[in-house]
Amino acid sequence: MEKVIKYRCSKCGELFDIPENALACESRHKRIEKANEMLDEGYTLKQINDECKIWNSVPEHLENVNKDNCFKISYWQCCDKPAYRITSIFFDGRVNVRGCGSWSGYYGNQLRLDSRDLNNPRPKEELFIDSRYTSRW
Ligand SMILES: [Zn+2]
Repeated sequence: MEKVIKYRCSKCGELFDIPENALACESRHKRIEKANEMLDEGYTLKQINDECKIWNSVPEHLENVNKDNCFKISYWQCCDKPAYRITSIFFDGRVNVRGCGSWSGYYGNQLRLDSRDLNNPRPKEELFIDSRYTSRW
């Protein structure tokens, strides 16, 4: 038999063979936390990435995007208007995109930054929220 030493990330519990990797995991948790704070505060994806190093790079068309920009993702809820916004950033670098494009209420999904669904950011003035949802009750 053989004694095995592992290093546990204090944030998520994942085990690593070398301490550097556990530290790297903990460090990424902290950077993701900070990135989400910056997103909430209205910073752009580029500003967030410069500070927190979440992605290898931010696609050029998303550099100036923040939580207020909206995206048209027609096949979600059959909604042909920009109803969805980036609401949070996950550990693996995907973003949560969410909105209310139809009477069925809020809907969201996790997307990679290079997803085609995020190709065409729209200004916040164009955000669509289905009014049937808010007035339903
Ligand atoms: Zn971890």
